[in-house]
Formats: sequence, C-alpha cells, structure tokens
Amino acid sequence: MGLARRKFDTLVIGAGGGGLRAALQLSQAEANVAVVSKVFPTRSHTVAAQGGINAALANVTPDNWHWHMYDTVKGSDYLGDQDAIEYMCRAASKVVIELEHSGVPFSRLDNGNIYQRPFGGQSQNFGGEQAARTCAAADRTGHVLLHTLYQQNIQAQTHFFDEYFAIDLIRDDEGYILGALVLEIETGEPLLIEAKTTLIATGGVGRLFKTNTNARINTGDGMAMALRAGIPVQDMEFFQFHPTGIAGKGMLLSEGARGEGGYLINGEGERFMERYAPQAKDLASRDVVSRSIAIEIREGRGCGPNKDHVLLKVNHLDSELVKKRLPAIRDLCLTFAHKDMAEEPVPVSPTAHYTMGGIPTNRYGQVVMPVGSSPEDIIPGLYAVGECACVSVHGANRLGGNSLLDIVVFGRAAGKNIIKYLSEARYHRKMNQDSVDQAMAHLARWDQKGDGLSIDGLKNELQETMEKYCGVFRTQDVLQEGVDKVLDIEKRLEDARLTDHSKIFNTARIEALELENLVDLGIATVKAALARTESRGAHSRMDYPERDDVHWLKHSLYFKEDKRLDFKPVRTKPLTVESFAPKPRVY
Ligand SMILES: Cc1cc2nc3c(=O)[nH]c(=O)nc-3n(C[C@H](O)[C@H](O)[C@H](O)COP(=O)(O)OP(=O)(O)OC[C@H]3O[C@@H](n4cnc5c(N)ncnc54)[C@H](O)[C@@H]3O)c2cc1C
Repeated sequence: MGLARRKFDTLVIGAGGGGLRAALQLSQAEANVAVVSKVFPTRSHTVAAQGGINAALANVTPDNWHWHMYDTVKGSDYLGDQDAIEYMCRAASKVVIELEHSGVPFSRLDNGNIYQRPFGGQSQNFGGEQAARTCAAADRTGHVLLHTLYQQNIQAQTHFFDEYFAIDLIRDDEGYILGALVLEIETGEPLLIEAKTTLIATGGVGRLFKTNTNARINTGDGMAMALRAGIPVQDMEFFQFHPTGIAGKGMLLSEGARGEGGYLINGEGERFMERYAPQAKDLASRDVVSRSIAIEIREGRGCGPNKDHVLLKVNHLDSELVKKRLPAIRDLCLTFAHKDMAEEPVPVSPTAHYTMGGIPTNRYGQVVMPVGSSPEDIIPGLYAVGECACVSVHGANRLGGNSLLDIVVFGRAAGKNIIKYLSEARYHRKMNQDSVDQAMAHLARWDQKGDGLSIDGLKNELQETMEKYCGVFRTQDVLQEGVDKVLDIEKRLEDARLTDHSKIFNTARIEALELENLVDLGIATVKAALARTESRGAHSRMDYPERDDVHWLKHSLYFKEDKRLDFKPVRTKPLTVESFAPKPRVY
C-alpha cells in the first residue's frame, strides 16, 4: 500500500495558543487548514499558563504601549528586536479585546473592566512606579484562552488531526517547504500532509532540564525539525529559570502570587529581594529574582534541612483573596507540597521554564535565513510562531505575561501573512520524493529492534546533564564538560534500539523520536552557552559577569549540519519610535 496523502492550503503543526490563533485567522478566511497535534488540542501546554497576558489597557494603573515596549526591551537585556517588540506592544490591547469578545472569561474589576495584576518588570513612565499590566482570569488564564480558541476553531471548521506526531518537514529542490510527514500515534501509520504553507507552533523545550515547569510533551520537536531541514535555531543559550517552582518538584507557582502581594524569605526570615532590587523587590525581572535565590542558597541562607530552597509567603494576605485570585496554584501546593499557601509559606526554588530561543522569524511569522529579514531571505512556505519561534521579542529574558501575548499577536500576524501568500500561490508545488524518502527513513530507523540502550535512561542522563552543566550559573569549564557529555549522549543514541517488546507500544517509538529532538537542542543550547562570553539576561557566566555590548549585542545561530555557530545583529531600530539604547539594568 502506498503512503497515505492529504492536501490542505495550510498545515499547522501544534494546537497550543500560537497554532490555534493562526488557524482561526485562516479558517475564518475560508482557507483549508489542518492542525496536527500530538495531544488533544486543549492539553497543549498553553492550558497551564496561570498568571495572565500583558496589554497596556490602563484599567488599574496609568499605562500605554510605549511604556510596555520600554519594559520589554529592558527585560530582554537589549537583545530583543525592537521592531518586533514595538509591533507586539502596539497590538496587545487590540488582541486582548478580541479575545474578550470571542468569549475569554477574564476576571473583572468592580467597574466591569478586565482585571489586571502587577507582574515582574512592569513600570510606568519608562522605569518609574510599578504598573499593573497583566490581564488575568484568576490563575487559569491559559486554560480559558486555549479552550476559547479551540471552540472558535471548531466553529470555523478547522480540520484537526488529534494525536498525530509530526516527524519531518518536506522540501522541494528550490527550498520551498511543502508540508510534513506525520504519524498517527494510535495506529502507527504514517501520513503525508501536503500544504502550500506550513506553520510550526510546537512550543518550547522545557523537557531539556530535569526540574522544569513544562508538560511532558514540550520536547522541542518543531525546532529540531527545522534543524534537520537546514534551518538554524537562534539564541538557545537563553533559557529562563522561573524563580518559584515548587522546591524539588518543579510545578510552577505563578508570578501572580507575588503580583498579589506575596514575597520571598530566606532561612533567616529575611525579605532578601530588598537587597538585590531595592525598587521592584520581589517583582524584579525573573532572571534577577532567580539569580538572587540561587545566591542566597549558595551562601548558606537557604531554608530546610539542606538549605536548598527559599520560601514564598502569601499567608499574610487575606485568605479569601488568595482563594479567589490564586485558586489553582493553591491546589498545586496542597497536592505537591502538602501545604495550604493561604495558611503557611511554601518551599520554592528556580526551575527551568521558558525557551527564549527558537526558529528565527520576522514579525510576520515567516522563517528567515541567517542574513537578516529582508523578503529575499525568507524560506518560502514556512512559518513559525509561539515558544518554538524566536522573533525575537523576549531577547535574553522574557517578562511574565509576554508569552501568551506573543502567541496571539504573532499567531494572528502569521495567519494574515499566510492568507496573502495563499492568494498568490494557487497550486500545490510538486513534492520532492527524496525529501519524502528521507523522512520515511528517519522513522524507519526506530523499526530496527534489539538490545540497545534504554531511551528512558539516556533521556534522564541528558536532563541531569543539562541541569548540572548548563543551569542558572555557568562557567567555561563546566560548560565544556557539558558539551562533551551531551555529544557523548548523541553518540550513544545512535546505537540505541527499541526492545522487541516495544513493538506493540507505539509510544516507545514516539519517545525515541522526541529524545533525538531533545539531544539536538541540548547540543545547540550548551554550545551557544559556551560561546557567549558575557552575562546577559538569563545567561549568567560567573567567569564573565558583565554584559558586553561591544562584542555580544548579537543573536547566536546554531546549525545542525556541522554543529556550527554563527551570529547576526540585533534589530535595534523600532518601527516608528526611537530606539532604546542599552543602559545598565537595575530594578
Ligand atoms: C506552567 C506554565 C505557566 C505559564 N504561565 C504563563 C503566563 O501566565 N503568562 C504567559 O504569558 N506565559 C506563561 N507561560 C508560557 C506560555 O504558556 C507558553 O510559552 C505558551 O503557551 C506556548 O504556546 P505555544 O502555542 O507556542 O505552544 P504549546 O501551548 O506548548 O503547544 C504546543 C503544541 O504543539 C504540539 N506538538 C509539539 N510537538 C509536536 C509534534 N511533534 N507533532 C505534533 N504536534 C506537536 C503539541 O501537541 C501542542 O499542541 C507559562 C508556561 C508554563 C509552562
């Protein structure tokens, strides 16, 4: 029997907020859209987003998009591209109101307006008083956003392939991307989806690290697919460690807890953030708070018998407020820390959370090749949005509440650009059989059975290596050891086989494919971290503690083919306003 094929105008890989927002734009314009997701769409990681989505609505404090832009550029430690940041901050209010009108049940202020809470790194008037910019539905913002977008897509007749796993992109000789080979997880049958345009929206790669806040599915598949298609990944050395994961477990306790008035204390009962960030205190930017916690622990001021965590305290707040505004994270604490945060402080420590790097794109969601973002440099037919993409609005450090914004703003922008592309591309281009054969061979590699190494064992080893050798604080020697170890894991993975027993379990094959993806991204991350000899945002080199704008105000690019790194300039010119020039970053 030949390979089964289906044809669509657009293939969207990933049904999180980014993929669904783009699909909605397209389906509403009557394009024929397929969305492929390895889990049921509403189980995508977007569902777990707690704290909210940023927009300068000025419902609680005075605010405007330009202040939001300033905070985002500063938060990015000046590595963010200012044209994309201006575009996002300007669009924010509009997309949030659109979400409200399509049915997202935001929490409300007494006057009926959308509730907004203060979040880290938000200021009024370019670095002044704390702003309250994060629009929230209690602490379940991602949940309501994702469910609303899914329902809207059903209404717009988007075609869903639920529990299908994307393996590789298909190209033609001229470099056009023409769809992807996918696998139906239940039956193990491959399917070729042909499309005039393909959008990657596969989310982040939090599963690279042992302790993380991410879903099990966040294995960076789309980024690794891009790498295999010859496209680099950008800025992978910038991985965000969230200050408040439940200690030792990793589940996220949203910044919303500090936004509502919570704060951190060390083993001596001291509110230590006052020392590190006198003005913003516990609402300094995430990289700053995570580093401060790590220093407190390292210098022996941690809590508990091993002094390996600090405490997040919200029990001084009105317990009814905690239950109303933070119900889901209170539940998480009850389940995983066996503590009621309304009654007592909860143990927390920095935890791997968000992938700032990803597939390089411009602000239309088009994937761009290294040289820059002029129209000639795009990869025809290929788009990427959301956490798998690097547009780059987050630069070296993302601000809380800016990722949900990123996915809807650029999901919408990519949808619009694809509609334009489709109006000119009337026919499907012919698939290149070599490219299809290559993707099939990639899949078939896991049909060879034997007594090879355990996939699970290698995965644990990778996650432990990344955590230990590429964590919050980094040095040359430790990173070099990390590179060697990950390359060794890559080598051993080549000899790994699935055992015969796993023939009946398709999921074993999926886990092997995911591990290949994780390994590629692990190499990209640790190599880029080794190369960058400065400290900027989330990338903290103890041997190079200062930011170095003379040599390092540039994006890194990693290519799989020869494991090569290259660099490209930051786009410091915004669309209409003046650039924000790099300044020392204090909170
Ligand atoms: C616990 C937590 C809380 C957060 N809270 C906030 C917050 O309050 N505010 C904020 O702004 N940001 C928050 N974030 C970040 C934000 O939620 C994410 O960055 C964002 O939702 C990512 O959306 P996405 O559409 O890019 O990807 P995801 O929502 O991760 O979706 C990825 C999709 O890709 C699919 N997929 C992946 N690989 C494959 C494959 N090989 N084949 C087929 N399908 C595939 C998956 O099935 C899924 O549908 C939080 C993140 C976490 C982990």
